Amino acid sequence: MTTPHFPTLMSPLEVRGGTLRNRVVMGSMHTGLEDRPWHVPQLAAYFAERARGGVGLIVTGGYSPNIRGWLLPFGSQMTSRLQAMRHRTVTDAVHAEGGKIALQLLHAGRYGYTPFSVSASASKSPITPFKASGMSARMVEQTITDFARAARLAKKAGYDGVEIMGSEGYLINQFLVATTNKRTDRWGGSPENRMRFPIEVVRRVREAVGEDMIVMYRMSLLDLVPEGQTWDETTLLAKEIETAGASIINTGIGWHEARVPTILTQVPRGAWSWTTRRLRQEVSIPVCASNRINTPELAEELVSDGSADLVSMARPFLADPELVNKAAAGRADEINTCIACNQACLDHTFANKRASCLVNPRACHETELVLLPVPRTRAKNVAVVGGGPAGLSAALSAAERGHHVTLFEAGSAIGGQFRLAMNIPGKEEFAETLRYYRRRFEVLGVDVRLGTRATPSGLDGYDEVVVATGVAPRMPELAGITHPKVVSYADVLDGRVVPGKRVAVVGAGGIGVDVAHFLTHSPETDQEWLEHWGVADPAVHRGGLDHKVPRVPAREVHLLQRKTTPIGKELGKTSGWAHRLVLKDSGVHQINGVTYERVDDDGLHVTVDGESRVLDVDHVVICAGQEPVRDLYDELVAGSAEHSGVHLIGGADVAAELDAKRAIKQGTELAARL
Ligand code: NAP
Ligand code: SF4
Repeated sequence: MTTPHFPTLMSPLEVRGGTLRNRVVMGSMHTGLEDRPWHVPQLAAYFAERARGGVGLIVTGGYSPNIRGWLLPFGSQMTSRLQAMRHRTVTDAVHAEGGKIALQLLHAGRYGYTPFSVSASASKSPITPFKASGMSARMVEQTITDFARAARLAKKAGYDGVEIMGSEGYLINQFLVATTNKRTDRWGGSPENRMRFPIEVVRRVREAVGEDMIVMYRMSLLDLVPEGQTWDETTLLAKEIETAGASIINTGIGWHEARVPTILTQVPRGAWSWTTRRLRQEVSIPVCASNRINTPELAEELVSDGSADLVSMARPFLADPELVNKAAAGRADEINTCIACNQACLDHTFANKRASCLVNPRACHETELVLLPVPRTRAKNVAVVGGGPAGLSAALSAAERGHHVTLFEAGSAIGGQFRLAMNIPGKEEFAETLRYYRRRFEVLGVDVRLGTRATPSGLDGYDEVVVATGVAPRMPELAGITHPKVVSYADVLDGRVVPGKRVAVVGAGGIGVDVAHFLTHSPETDQEWLEHWGVADPAVHRGGLDHKVPRVPAREVHLLQRKTTPIGKELGKTSGWAHRLVLKDSGVHQINGVTYERVDDDGLHVTVDGESRVLDVDHVVICAGQEPVRDLYDELVAGSAEHSGVHLIGGADVAAELDAKRAIKQGTELAARL
């Protein structure tokens, strides 16, 4: 493809075993469609849509080379000819769209959720329930043979390559690091002995597949665990992996058990590119950057400034399968950008649910959530009231199908709760979602009426009316609730109120935690962000980990809830721990089991463990959940005997535990039915 847009990123790349049409790799993600044969058609449709979208190389989710390497009971594996033949549906679908696809070979080691998991030595990981047994020397040899056989089967299945998973803390990493490899035979002891396992895997895989297949090795550049690899060990391994026959070194940051966020939205974009830039100087095969790269602009910068030869993006392809084609066509402003929230992808995967995407509910549901175009003669006039996530998704999906859509928004801009969220430090990515909607509305000709409060009479004449009027912050019944010290989270997040130095936050759900972070956060550079998490130069500190540089909180904050459960327990599985750590490191006083008494000039009066306390604060910020706003809906329904064309979605429908994931999905599903 020749294009003036993102010219380096879009240029082809010759690698050992094949030519890539551009330098964009769709990184491996476990979607939950890999494990059962009956999901193959859905998996094929999911990958085909991404191949059609122009990506250079797709990498599948992880497939184990044997039963001991399963991620979960009866998990995905590549161990027989029958399985290989089933994959033909997937590879044929990708090839029909002009794409290339590699199968990831992943042995979970002690990260396997099975009682018969194995590792370099007997050990239990802090994030899995079962203790893995140590592998015998014979089992090590057999596992290498299994990797080679799986690669040969992948070739039979029509794959263009394999990726050997040697990062994020799986079996290969467990061999490489002394804390998990206590062996005294030729597979343990010295760093050279510990490296023997991955090197042999790559050598035998190359031998098995021959020269006409891509062999990618995914290597951990920073382990971010105590006693992780040094930079010298990493570069030595990289050189040996090249010699053993790899075509590309893909990269990864941090083991899953690391207590440093590596891909969450709070991680600065491109935060890890310094590691690939350094590795590139040590090897002559292409090096692929990954982790927190979510725009073609950043990807182009990395491949043209010498940081990487190619760029891997995984979640961004859930958010927008057409990312590459849009970028190449000069339509990058129409990309639905991944906001790195993990809410519908990794949080689902770790809960054993099928992955999807908060901003694109069609992801991994391509055959089920279909936005069929409507013939011009059957296009309807659709009014959507409310420009929050639910209304935005309904309006856009309806317009994409060909309906004539008018969006009414009472405020001066679209976004609803998203506009508040994007003001939270580390959640700035939410602004990208609003840019996407604004631009797509422009392209599709959606009539967006800002500053316009819809009335029942103003909605006469529309075939369908979608009410997405959202939520209002709940103000609890609390003595002194009208005291000037009391403000709502919306007032604080949109800047109408700048709280004083001492603040109490009432309610510790997702928003309370966010507000506590907002209030304590001091501006930090990308380098300071790394230091606050203890990330250091792996040439000096093993695993790239050092003491954290303490944070200087901007305010003293008390975060309160009535429940006696730990604060932040309901937050997402893959992000909650990081939010909780930030609160702790920012000195937030977290108090549960609170009874609120009153607010007065002295502050917030509470009872905790039967003891009365006064929190001497300047402001009390209420984050006590939300109530639905559905006056318009009630009026519409009351005023019409026949209201089949009136629909209620989002927080206006059910406010409790509303999140943007549910709102966007509900809006899209409704639009698919209109
Ligand atoms: P929420 O998660 O339901 O939390 C509401 C909080 O208010 C709870 O801590 C509750 O705790 C307290 N509360 C409820 N009624 C109260 C009352 N009458 N008086 C005093 N306290 C009361 O709601 P939210 O924080 O507003 O968040 C809304 C949704 O946004 C959530 O469902 C979440 O999914 C989403 N969100 C998610 C994230 C994220 O990081 N994933 C971030 C922001 C928002 P007690 O009843 O124990 O006091
Ligand atoms: Fe990205 Fe969030 Fe979608 Fe996952 S759910 S792909 S993190 S936007």
